[in-house]
Amino acid sequence: MTTHRRRRCAHCQALYSHQSSGPGSDGLNNEIWCPDCMAVVNAALKSVPVAVERFSEVVTGADRDAAILALHDLEVERAKKHAAGELVIRRVYAPLFYMDEGKITATKPHESVTIEGVSYMIGTWSDNREPQEVRREMERDLRTGETRPWVDVWD
Ligand SMILES: [Zn+2]
Repeated sequence: MTTHRRRRCAHCQALYSHQSSGPGSDGLNNEIWCPDCMAVVNAALKSVPVAVERFSEVVTGADRDAAILALHDLEVERAKKHAAGELVIRRVYAPLFYMDEGKITATKPHESVTIEGVSYMIGTWSDNREPQEVRREMERDLRTGETRPWVDVWD
């Protein structure tokens, strides 16, 4: 499903249609600038080097245990809300399919928990409820090579 909203460009004030989700974005789809102004922004940004690369890494040890415990606590909280008749909201991720035997034998959705601003993704095969893989969002400073946990900033 795609959604389109009518917007007014922050710079030229032209009315335009913004697609807020779904496929079909051409790189000029932006909720602040119209396609003409976004093309100028994109061209200007080509000369600015990217400072940070985002990646994820497999987490082991105490950090892995903390993420799994946080997911357990989240599931307990969800179960309490569900039992109380409250609406339980959860993020839905596209699953991976296990196809080694030529058929789909299991899916691997993943859950996400946040600990002190750092996101951890926990993968679990549907035929084995034990967490299989825990990954942490990371960033690499492309000037220094330094890595650290990626922290989302929400205003
Ligand atoms: Zn514009």
